[in-house]
Amino acid sequence: MESQCAIVAYIAFGANIGDREKTIRRALDLLRETDGVRVTRVSEFIENAAVGGPADSPAFFNGVVQIETTLLPEALLNLLLDIEQRLGRIRREKWEPRSIDLDVILYGDEVVNTDRLTIPHPLMQERRFVLEPLVEIAPEVIHPVLKISAAKMLEQLRPRLAVSQNKPD
Ligand code: AMP
Repeated sequence: MESQCAIVAYIAFGANIGDREKTIRRALDLLRETDGVRVTRVSEFIENAAVGGPADSPAFFNGVVQIETTLLPEALLNLLLDIEQRLGRIRREKWEPRSIDLDVILYGDEVVNTDRLTIPHPLMQERRFVLEPLVEIAPEVIHPVLKISAAKMLEQLRPRLAVSQNKPD
């Protein structure tokens, strides 16, 4: 389903199995090949230790892509699930991590709360691996609920980490 005017949206991506860089590049190509989607900026891929999950989980490559899209939020979600499935099938491993995870983090200044979709992504402001690449490509973008910029969200994350890193044993 499409709307009349293009919305600027941000998608966070992460991959931690197989050829992570190749899988992410393929996902970005599939986005580029989609009618109603224009990829306008892509962050660096940043390597991060897996958060949560088993201790031996392989490290992720994470990043954020900015798109202009005429797809409505649900249609965008369906597209991302389809890309995840297509790439998952290519290199399905015997255990659980998927080859690529794609999340809508922002869709213009819209707030969406349905059974299938929460936008802005509810954990984005807590995830350094989302905020760092987002700040790289769009430091001024505003979270429509918190009403602060991506740069500010990252800044607010820093003191908490600094405190925990400096805690005595
Ligand atoms: P996960 O694989 O853990 O990222 O979860 C995927 C599921 O989360 C999807 O099937 C969606 O229905 C749901 N979901 C809710 N909000 C979002 C969002 N903003 N972006 C992507 N998936 C979402």
